[in-house]
Amino acid sequence: MIVRANRTQIVKKLNVKPLHNLKSNKELREALLADPTPRTTLSFYQYFHIANPQEFRDELYRKFTELGVLGRIYIADEGINAQMSVPTANFEAFKQMLYSLDSALDGLRLNVAIEDDGKSFWVLRLKVRDKIVADGIDDPTFDVANNGKYLKAAQVNALIGDPNAVFVDMRNYYEYEVGHFENAIEVPSDTFKEQLPMAAEMLKDLKGRDDKTIVMYCTGGIRCEKATAYMIHNGFNNVYHVEGGVIEYARQAEKLGLESKFKGKNFVFDERFGERITDDVVARCHQCESPSDRHTNCANDNCHRLFIQCENCQTRFENCCGAECQRIAALPQAERYALRKLQTTSTFDKARANRLVPVL
Ligand SMILES: [Zn+2]
Ligand SMILES: [Zn+2]
Repeated sequence: MIVRANRTQIVKKLNVKPLHNLKSNKELREALLADPTPRTTLSFYQYFHIANPQEFRDELYRKFTELGVLGRIYIADEGINAQMSVPTANFEAFKQMLYSLDSALDGLRLNVAIEDDGKSFWVLRLKVRDKIVADGIDDPTFDVANNGKYLKAAQVNALIGDPNAVFVDMRNYYEYEVGHFENAIEVPSDTFKEQLPMAAEMLKDLKGRDDKTIVMYCTGGIRCEKATAYMIHNGFNNVYHVEGGVIEYARQAEKLGLESKFKGKNFVFDERFGERITDDVVARCHQCESPSDRHTNCANDNCHRLFIQCENCQTRFENCCGAECQRIAALPQAERYALRKLQTTSTFDKARANRLVPVL
């Protein structure tokens, strides 16, 4: 009979430092909330060739752990994508370490979060993946380096009223929903993979035209490196992208005293859900349709759907997306677990959200 030791036992036995965390999410989260150390939340990415992603990952894990980095980092042979927090006191050391790892990372722009309580991540996760941004592209002639031209904030503002310029939001619909550039068009899917051919199809009348300008943007710029390359690959001419995405645009606009043409909130994938860029509330509560841009996860763990809920509905539905989830969330734990086996966990689904009927 083969008895499998769990990974804690193996690590103890071998007396080696684990290259992944061994504590539960709950313990880690509580530890972070209790820790008064000031932390800086930031993100960065770079497309560059990594010969051995697993080795690179293990090296980063050691170095990031030493510096107290927390966050979610993806590594693939096409590059790195990182969202993280660093103890503010270690920020400079972190920067120097990162810049010295590879010449492709030297001087890289780090997007520092605007609204930040330092509690954005409570664990360090580094994962090796096939791609840092799943794109569904298997054409070997596709070259991400042959991408659009970058626009700085002032250039973005100059183009936004131009009737020959089309702004295309390459983020998911739940991101677009709470904030976007004025008049930007939405590419209605929740996967980037589906959005690429969809965007090319939606804009097909602009193909090969020199008198039209396409401006693409996303949260931090990583998706549009690929999206603009995809458009160029498919015969579009004047293709631009907002340098550093909404995060960098907002930073530049604020620094230069420019009016923000991005209205509402910039959705981010961490505990905060979003950074407010302007006071405009461009979305509505999915339950009562009053103006609201508060994203939340349904309190029924069997559902956990991401949706928009105003404060009134939060109280009324006890943080749940509807009466059924409210009923389930109130059940004893054992009953909820039994139900869980019958249900598949749902991610946010726009079609489903639109079918939500408020229970009055
Ligand atoms: Zn409501
Ligand atoms: Zn629910």
